[in-house]
Amino acid sequence: MRTGGVRLDLLIIGAGPAGLSAADVAAREGLEYLVVEKGLIADTVYHYPIGLTVFSTTNELELREGALRPCREKPTREELLSHYVRFALEQNLRVNTEEEVTRIERLDGEGFLVRTSRGRYEAARILVCTGAMARPRRLNVPGEDLPKVHHRFVEPFPYVRKDVLVVGGGNSAAEAALFLSEGGARPTFAIWPSDWENRDPRMGCIKHWVRGPLEREIAEGRLRLFLFSEVEEIGETDVKIKDAAGASHTLPNAAVFVLIGSDADLRLLRDVGVRVEKSGLTEVPSYDPETFETNVPGLYVAGHFTNSRHIKEAIAVPRRVIPLIAQSLRAAV
Ligand SMILES: Cc1cc2nc3c(=O)[nH]c(=O)nc-3n(C[C@H](O)[C@H](O)[C@H](O)COP(=O)(O)OP(=O)(O)OC[C@H]3O[C@@H](n4cnc5c(N)ncnc54)[C@H](O)[C@@H]3O)c2cc1C
Repeated sequence: MRTGGVRLDLLIIGAGPAGLSAADVAAREGLEYLVVEKGLIADTVYHYPIGLTVFSTTNELELREGALRPCREKPTREELLSHYVRFALEQNLRVNTEEEVTRIERLDGEGFLVRTSRGRYEAARILVCTGAMARPRRLNVPGEDLPKVHHRFVEPFPYVRKDVLVVGGGNSAAEAALFLSEGGARPTFAIWPSDWENRDPRMGCIKHWVRGPLEREIAEGRLRLFLFSEVEEIGETDVKIKDAAGASHTLPNAAVFVLIGSDADLRLLRDVGVRVEKSGLTEVPSYDPETFETNVPGLYVAGHFTNSRHIKEAIAVPRRVIPLIAQSLRAAV
């Protein structure tokens, strides 16, 4: 089975925690594998806000026990990113970065043809770990395409002494509002009343170690809390927004952060015939909960776009699945 000269046992798509964990096990199983990553190693972590302290504990995030040693109790973005990159280098994992998978096709008989931005590969098995960050959700209001509107928050420094609006109900929005407030911007945090009142961690409430300092910023007048119902329109220098009672307000504004979650891009999977199903607000691929194999034989999924969303499971699932893949390949010989 050879096309374009490259024949693999396993092609892994995405070099996040799931893809790196999969590559690590594939190497130990002696598989001919390759990871193809459209961005950088751990690209999603690379795009976390600069200086963010993550919420998971070290043992949930590290690829080898004891290998991630943060200065404080929990690692920062920088410590986590450097752990993943160092791990890939030290284990000499086969990762092609800045190469995007554009299409997966089934070959007659067994195996797949994978087309990328740089070439094509044949592989007996595919593990898709492309995460769920591809499509930031939008408000779909006039003005959302203005350059001052961002769907990702990086750092507060460009916004010092500027009026900024953060829209969202979860941790990413709350953390951005806090970073901006502590960093010298003049932020307004627009959140639905139900999200602000939510104190249930199982319902995705704002983590208490973010909420505490956030409430202090509000109490001390550096951050304005705006319980809203709807953003109406974003203009060059202002924003029209309705409060929870439905009254319209015009706020001066230099930048808007729309941080209301993101969805996976499931086109690669759909196009090769993988079924998808509803899961809460989003869609996930259908797969066997034991083997993580989809309805397309030989095509597996792991990580953030499955029902096992956090990094802990993104790392754990490939440790169970890759040995099964290796077994099935040995059985096929
Ligand atoms: C600000 C922030 C903080 C977070 N904090 C935590 C935390 O503390 N704990 C926790 O458990 N989770 C946290 N998360 C969620 C966590 O980042 C994800 O659960 C984790 O990244 C999932 O790993 P993954 O390998 O499934 O996907 P990802 O890490 O998203 O990796 C997917 C990779 O696939 C690549 N890719 C996508 N499409 C293609 C393609 N067509 N071709 C090639 N490559 C492709 C992407 O570039 C990406 O590198 C946080 C998320 C954010 C945004």
